[in-house]
Amino acid sequence: MEQRFIADAMLGKLARWLRVMGCDVEYFPAIDDRELVARAERNGRLILTRDTLLVRRRRARENHFFVGGDDYRDQVRQVMAAFAIDPFAHFLSRCLECNALLVDVPREEAAGRVPPYVLATQEPFQGCPACGRLYWSGTHRERMTEELKRMVGPQVTP
Ligand SMILES: [Zn+2]
Repeated sequence: MEQRFIADAMLGKLARWLRVMGCDVEYFPAIDDRELVARAERNGRLILTRDTLLVRRRRARENHFFVGGDDYRDQVRQVMAAFAIDPFAHFLSRCLECNALLVDVPREEAAGRVPPYVLATQEPFQGCPACGRLYWSGTHRERMTEELKRMVGPQVTP
């Protein structure tokens, strides 16, 4: 089964980039340690953390991956290596804001929800069933592809 994660409050950028790769990562910027540990246990998620105090908690001790360093690009590489994540296998399949899996949205439904130029030139559209945010290809996607390629090294091809 695919590994599911919950990231601690210090790891927002890591959580976001893991979501870019399609990983299932919960993240709450203001969650406290007790709630984080309880939520991880309740939902079968592995805790990603930089917090040396948190990992001493009894219920976190056997259920965490300790992330080293403050550079999110290093952090991304560590998690990818440890869990054998293929960075482009599920690229942009999740909402970057809330982690839900995206669904295809027909052009008619995107009308009125994106700028006319985008509607005329982009396809396909995908939407988040949880927060309603719409996603489409274009420069944003290209930039993320380039940044991810730089992050994970030249040996990987999308
Ligand atoms: Zn969303």
